[in-house]
Parts: sequence; C-alpha cells; structure tokens
Amino acid sequence: MGFEFNENVIEHFENPRNVGEIPDADVIETVGSPVCGDMLTLYIKLKDDKIEDIKFKTYGCGAAIATSSLFTELVKGKTVEEALKVTSDVVVEAIGGLPEKKVHCSLLAPDAFKQAIEKYRAKQ
Ligand SMILES: [Zn+2]
Repeated sequence: MGFEFNENVIEHFENPRNVGEIPDADVIETVGSPVCGDMLTLYIKLKDDKIEDIKFKTYGCGAAIATSSLFTELVKGKTVEEALKVTSDVVVEAIGGLPEKKVHCSLLAPDAFKQAIEKYRAKQ
C-alpha cells in the first residue's frame, strides 16, 4: 500500500469486524475526510444507553478500514459515555500506531460516532 503498516492494521484491513448495515439502527451517520477521500457510515443500535450493536461501511483507504474496524470492537457493549472517550488517539494506540500521514484516517469513526450521538440525543 506504499505505507509501513504494522500487522494489526493489516489484520483489521484484511478481516474488518462489524462491516455492514443495521436495518433497525437507532442512528446512522456519515462523515468524510477530504484528505484521502475516505467516507464512513456508522450504524448504531442503542439499548439502555449501551452500544448494543455497531456496524460500518466505508469507501476508505486501508487505514480508515482498519481503524474503523477496531473502533467498533472497542465501543461495542460500552455505555455511550465510555464510548465517547474512545478517541482517535485511543484507536491509534490500540492498533499499535499508524504512519503519520494516515493518522487523520483514524478520526473518521470517532467523529462519526460523536456526531451520531449528538444527532440521536437531539431527537430524544
Ligand atoms: Zn485515509
């Protein structure tokens, strides 16, 4: 891919977790990154203020796919407040680091999540 990705990144890129749609999602949010042209849509199902299920679809680069995959694994089953603390820094650290030029790709999932929760709360 032209970048030095570590094996965790490659593993998540090759076998991304929680890819797809949730037909009865409570909230759906799409964000884009102008730098790579990455696009990400998050589907979130909430129950008693917990992330019961979360899925994503992305037209993104390898780093976007890998970090979004890891993000969904990290937040699934957590409360909304706990999940909001999973920032891109947390994701990058958990995946073992990203090349500098690709760090912005790890913002997609946390940004989409934060916006989704704001949208969800505004509706309540
Ligand atoms: Zn990217």
